[in-house]
Amino acid sequence: MRQLIAGNWKMNGLSGDAAAIAGPLRPGSDGLACDLLVCPPFTQIVTVANILVGSAVAVGGQDCHVNEKGAHTGDISAAMLRDAGASWVILGHSERRADHGETDALIQAKTRAAVAASLTPIVCVGETEAQRVAGQQNTVVGGQLTGSLPPGFAGVVAYEPVWAIGTGKTATEADVAAMHLFIRETLVRQLGDAGNSVRILYGGSVRPANAASLLSVPHVGGALVGGASLKAEEFLGIAKAAKA
Ligand code: PEP
Repeated sequence: MRQLIAGNWKMNGLSGDAAAIAGPLRPGSDGLACDLLVCPPFTQIVTVANILVGSAVAVGGQDCHVNEKGAHTGDISAAMLRDAGASWVILGHSERRADHGETDALIQAKTRAAVAASLTPIVCVGETEAQRVAGQQNTVVGGQLTGSLPPGFAGVVAYEPVWAIGTGKTATEADVAAMHLFIRETLVRQLGDAGNSVRILYGGSVRPANAASLLSVPHVGGALVGGASLKAEEFLGIAKAAKA
């Protein structure tokens, strides 16, 4: 299974930035051994999709509503993302769980909506620092997987320890190995054999300098990259460390 390197631009990127970041990904993605995805803010999806059309780089959104359309001011549906040129969507990012009170049940409903609109969902899970210190990481992540993934889930899971996101701290290889094995076992229990085919990304301060070691940990199927995805050179540096 090819590894997936996914960039989450978060709430960053005006039109000039979008062209500067996405432009170099076209030639830069030639011959990579991994799949590449960028998730700009909603307002830049059309621009980025046009820049990358016909390339190997896919485009995704960072959230979607559970409904296809209707009276939901300020929200964006999965069908709208698809229409704008996206084929993926990140769901349940810890920043949305914290900033918008997103629950596992809501994330599961969004995941169903994404699949119904032919988007591939990346469902994020991960414990806070306090939960890890209390030794609760498996309980927390196990609960998030059970609550957020619908039966028959065939998307991607991203393990992102909250304390490692945007902090420069990364989990140790041993911690990543233990959690990814736990997630794999949970997915197989939940989804049967199909759980073996779900790519499990690691996210949390991934940089070109630490990418090769993190991406070589068993059951790590790629990386979800925040800060370093805002510079094409750094993002491609991470992608070059990925394995087929
Ligand atoms: C993220 O937001 O998903 C993330 C992993 O951010 P960063 O790479 O900046 O830690």
